[in-house]
Amino acid sequence: MAGRLKVRVNSSGYKKFFDPKKRRWVLTHRRTLENALGRELPLSVHVHHINHNKFDNRPANLVGLDPSVHAIIHHEDPEACFRCGRSSHWARNCRARTRINGERIRG
Ligand SMILES: [Zn+2]
Ligand SMILES: [Zn+2]
Repeated sequence: MAGRLKVRVNSSGYKKFFDPKKRRWVLTHRRTLENALGRELPLSVHVHHINHNKFDNRPANLVGLDPSVHAIIHHEDPEACFRCGRSSHWARNCRARTRINGERIRG
């Protein structure tokens, strides 16, 4: 890539970089996960650092979460299912049709 990438840390402690194509600052962890998935994530999806280290932006440390599930993982149950927000199982074994807040899970 030509030129140096401008990198900063925002007030929430996340790394961001200036995207010269879009001419705006982009959160590094969001773009990293989007690149790994091969698609853009809507802003309604939060990107969570699995080991809670905001500087560890390896794709394997990132997961897209519904905001309600994200809040549970940070404030109530760090071991909660990434898909539905309930305890006692992992997302890969999750069969729930709704999230813990009652919303239907699409797909
Ligand atoms: Zn998080
Ligand atoms: Zn679940």
